[in-house]
Amino acid sequence: MTALGDLLIARIARTGPLSVADYMAECLMHPDHGYYATRDPFGVAGDFTTAPEITQMFGELIGLSLAQTWMDQGQPSPITLAELGPGRGTLMADALRATKGVPGFHAALSVHLVETSPTLRQAQAKLLPDAIWHDHVETLPDAPLFLIANEFFDALPIRQFVRDGNGWREKVVGVTDGKLSFGLSAAAPLALLEDRLTDTKDGDLVEHCVGLPAITASISAKIAAFGGTALIIDYGDWQSQGDTLQALKAQAHVDPLTTPGDADLTAHVDFAAIAAHASPARFSRLTGQGVFLERLGITGRAQALAAKLSGDALTSHIAAHRRLTHPAEMGELFKVISIYPVTAQPPPGLEP
Ligand code: SAH
Repeated sequence: MTALGDLLIARIARTGPLSVADYMAECLMHPDHGYYATRDPFGVAGDFTTAPEITQMFGELIGLSLAQTWMDQGQPSPITLAELGPGRGTLMADALRATKGVPGFHAALSVHLVETSPTLRQAQAKLLPDAIWHDHVETLPDAPLFLIANEFFDALPIRQFVRDGNGWREKVVGVTDGKLSFGLSAAAPLALLEDRLTDTKDGDLVEHCVGLPAITASISAKIAAFGGTALIIDYGDWQSQGDTLQALKAQAHVDPLTTPGDADLTAHVDFAAIAAHASPARFSRLTGQGVFLERLGITGRAQALAAKLSGDALTSHIAAHRRLTHPAEMGELFKVISIYPVTAQPPPGLEP
């Protein structure tokens, strides 16, 4: 058992089982032992690789999509260019480099990063020395908001509930024979899941992302009031159903309860929940990452970059393009939704 595991076992003995959300929050963000709080998990040598770490084309195309949206909305100034959970800061750095030539864009923007991990803030500061950091989205400026969130929502803690008659039993983390184990609370009706009674049956498991409603509502309120757009990219689907909690360590799946704090924990994103909190702004149609990137011209960009490459570099560049867009790789599992003002069009690559 990890050091965090021992702490959690002692805490459960004192105060009882934890919700899956509380368990996730401790595993990811515990100040001394949390997964994100203590390390940089990205890259081939790390536990997982994200799209911006696979190829510079990802951040470049997202930057250009946001800059085009800024032009389409009449080039407001000043604006906030924000990212939620920026990891190493690679995506934002690629987006800024790609948009240098867009007249007036850099002069209008300031970069704001929402990040809770001190270790990752340090990594971000190396690439983005002029950024301003926030603990929460609520403190982002009252200004047009151009925001990107890639693999951010999947890291937010979820609660899990199993349908039992017209009520729900919450999945909890307790202790059996000195080890962490899953259990179920007593059944109770839940206003939170009233709308899920129609599309579930006894024994079905549904997930509820605790932080999603307030974060989405806060972003949407800013976009509705001041303009801008949010591009939210993650794996998941329209209304999650089933257990999607997963733990990753050294690019492989592990049991979520055996190495608390040492493995990444994620859950699929319920995009319907994002859409449900997008008002008073609008949300775009949910679109596969592959289709989105092809519409933004990734193939042309890939060919331009390929012309300067040869040997292993060319082979890995071609593989990176395929990895991001192919339906058998990230192209369909990963999805994109945008939030945008009722008075505007969705960003390039997305439809109303
Ligand atoms: N977007 C990056 C990193 C994704 S990993 C990429 O694509 O490579 C998730 C990121 O979200 C990490 O930077 C993590 O520290 C951050 N994070 C997780 N929970 C958070 C929270 N509640 N508030 C702010 N940042 C959070």
